[in-house]
Amino acid sequence: MFDPFHARDTFETGRGRAGIYRLSRLEDAGLTRVGRLPFSIRVLLEAVLRNCDGQAVTERDVRNLAGWGPDCPAAAEVPFKPARVVLQDFTGVPALVDLAAMRDAMRRLGGDPRRINPLVPADLVIDHSVQADFFGSPDAMQKNVALEFQRNRERYEFLRWGREAFENFRVVPPALGIVHQVNLEFLAKCVFLRADAAGPVALPDTLLGTDSHTTMINGLGVLGWGVGGIEAEAVMLGQPLGMLAPEVVGLELSGRLPAGATATDLVLTVTQLLRREGVVNKFVEFFGPAVATMKVAERALVANMAPEYGATMGFFPIDDLTLAYLRQTGRTDEEVALVERYAKEQQLFYRPGQPGETPEYTKVLRLDLGTIEPSLAGPKRPQDRVALGSVQASFRQALRAPVAQRGFGLSEEETLRTAAVAGDDGGTTIGHGAVVIAAITSCTNTSNPDLMLAAGLLARNAVQRGLRVKPYVKTSLAPGSRVVTDYYRASGLDRPLEELGFHLVGYGCTTCIGNSGPLPEPVAEAVGRGNLVAAAVLSGNRNFEGRINPLVKANYLASPPLVVAYALAGTVDIDLVTEPLGTDRDGRPVFLKDVWPTPAEVAAVVAQAVRPEMFRARYSNVFQSNADWNAMSVAGSELFPWDPASTYIQEPPFLVDLAAEPGPIAPLGGARVLLALGDSVTTDHISPAGSIAATSPAGKYLLEHGVQPVDFNSYGSRRGNDRVMTRGTFANIRIRNQLAPGTEGGVTRHLPDGRLMPIFDAAMRYKAEGVPLLVLAGTEYGAGSSRDWAAKGSYLLGIRAVLAASFERIHRSNLVGMGVLPLELPPGQSWQSLGLSGEEVYDLPDLDDRLQPGAELAVTATAAGGVRRFRVKARIDTPVELEYYRNGGILQTVLRKLLKA
Ligand code: SF4
Repeated sequence: MFDPFHARDTFETGRGRAGIYRLSRLEDAGLTRVGRLPFSIRVLLEAVLRNCDGQAVTERDVRNLAGWGPDCPAAAEVPFKPARVVLQDFTGVPALVDLAAMRDAMRRLGGDPRRINPLVPADLVIDHSVQADFFGSPDAMQKNVALEFQRNRERYEFLRWGREAFENFRVVPPALGIVHQVNLEFLAKCVFLRADAAGPVALPDTLLGTDSHTTMINGLGVLGWGVGGIEAEAVMLGQPLGMLAPEVVGLELSGRLPAGATATDLVLTVTQLLRREGVVNKFVEFFGPAVATMKVAERALVANMAPEYGATMGFFPIDDLTLAYLRQTGRTDEEVALVERYAKEQQLFYRPGQPGETPEYTKVLRLDLGTIEPSLAGPKRPQDRVALGSVQASFRQALRAPVAQRGFGLSEEETLRTAAVAGDDGGTTIGHGAVVIAAITSCTNTSNPDLMLAAGLLARNAVQRGLRVKPYVKTSLAPGSRVVTDYYRASGLDRPLEELGFHLVGYGCTTCIGNSGPLPEPVAEAVGRGNLVAAAVLSGNRNFEGRINPLVKANYLASPPLVVAYALAGTVDIDLVTEPLGTDRDGRPVFLKDVWPTPAEVAAVVAQAVRPEMFRARYSNVFQSNADWNAMSVAGSELFPWDPASTYIQEPPFLVDLAAEPGPIAPLGGARVLLALGDSVTTDHISPAGSIAATSPAGKYLLEHGVQPVDFNSYGSRRGNDRVMTRGTFANIRIRNQLAPGTEGGVTRHLPDGRLMPIFDAAMRYKAEGVPLLVLAGTEYGAGSSRDWAAKGSYLLGIRAVLAASFERIHRSNLVGMGVLPLELPPGQSWQSLGLSGEEVYDLPDLDDRLQPGAELAVTATAAGGVRRFRVKARIDTPVELEYYRNGGILQTVLRKLLKA
């Protein structure tokens, strides 16, 4: 065996001996001091050490990472091979479509299609399809599930084919849970025992996922984060993920949460703190005395929102509370013993306050939990935390603030608008800030029994006082696992929640991913007629404009108990600290503090209702737990039988004409700008996940193919069909293209004639004219959820480069993974400051085969008024990425490698 550091040894697992790749051997060789490395770097180092084969992972890679220090972290590239991959259905379907397409391409190039298989185990959880069409009744869940199966049958059949056709690939069927919660409660093991050439070997559980909130698992001491679908495919196919050794910011937590503050309030505060600090591309690691008081469910919540605070991930090392969580969620004694023994053996076990070496961080920040106050975040971004007592003032200010400052730009007079909502009881009148959606949703919060049961207790107290939810509020409860229903039932708190309308609508992402479903007609009509800034309050983690519901402009993130409270109040234009939620049966005011449960009450009901056997019962047979799924028929073939008539699954064009060898990198010349964009354009703007408008190019395509608007389903659910997705690229109604000022949505001006037309139509005209395309963008281009279609769609529109002030991490690498060149302007510059308008013709003459990672390139922009020249940095960051770019993308690279192997 290749083991240049003689690191392989054995240790006692409690059930016999198993292999271990000892980090201490690197210390013995004088290469590192393990105790001084952050825990997250130790985990990364173990993966590099164990996978060192002298080829994909070399001795030098091990030495480089072993030499990690707080001052010089980013010098070296780390080839990371995780223990497993996790997918959800929206991103998993296109990943599987690509694998299926690779099988076809392999056959065309004369290779064996069966060589295309995940080499790294992959699990897919179907969770993004559930939509809350039905709500507020006992059978809402059954009706939504039936509709879900009807809408998604083609995709589900494809996934069933994939489960049979590919090795190392499992599927958690629909209607059972949300990927990150299922991962936390079941899939994650913290330590695996696997077989290698020398026998069983223990290794830390590490993973990459196709959802940015994969980071949640770091709350359990499992290192993992989100990558684009294309990167995940490459990792599944045995490629290492190329990354630069990260800086690690240590966040020291001290003190205790005051009564009244929740873990959600903590995470909103952490998000604001770290956003201000700037932790993009960095690891964050939590340490300090308060960590030992935080349950894993709280840590997971903080870890989940890493994309919102901008870090690659936020890590909590394994400790006694990790072991307690594993026991609480029904993991076996044997599994827990393995985790404890291995972590202690490898210096991966955290004991706060213990004398000895402490990790050295690139930078240390501090937070006293005693300062946390009840909060919401909104109305447009997760990092905009507002203390509960300031929500009303902040909302009123946002109503008047200009749109450019994240306001709604209303005049004084417009803020007074109201509209009547028709109803059986004579109706009611609503104004700006009316809460029309109150959703207990999202893996972020629904994995946390304390928060879920606190919501139940608040509901019980409110019902006892005779409070009711306002009639125009769409209420929903969508937990991330069936265990939540079990402990709600065991506590009896399902009943008061249901009395307030929080009936189960499904087990899935629902409102968090934009699947809030339509508003009731009278409410939708009133919001539209009054042109009101209606509000949603949800326990999710994303609230970008247009994401939650097209009719709801102000979206606030809040803890589950606050979601219930705002449903009762019916408006965010209220100060819940000083004003009552409503009045009781005797006409007396009831304040939030009157119904808010005490920490002791919550702890007592958690201790009574949350039991390990619930987790064991729900997960023992999870892969076979859905009878409709089991009953589906599957095509048992090695190649997928593509159906040309399908509007859900199509063979993508990337690999259809693939040559066995790539051509040289060529200069870019005569390029036109398709869109000129401002700052913070998200992947939701680039590739919307929500509903498809009948008048959009994607809607027209579906109509032409006989699909009625009622069956359009969402963009997310159609990611297996490139024809829909390319037409949907940049089709978000909120995108503002400065090449077509005054317009909203996917419109541009075709140049040089200047005619206004949909983005897709313009792109196809440019394609017919042989004109390559560019996008001009501001800072943080591509922020938000990882979405490989944001890159794939860009490529298929003919975009060959994106010139931005800065890029979000995953989207940048996805662009490279699709062969699109990310170009970054020097710090402080923007396309506007360079005097560009987007009407120029662009040339990159020195882009050629000598391209190196991080190379500076000259750009010439020619317009009628003259020529501008400036320099940009090619954001191809690593040699691995350069290889992808040279090959035209990741899939092409992997396929060519497998063909030669
Ligand atoms: S609930 Fe939200 S954060 Fe969690 S997986 Fe679904 S969309 Fe992502």
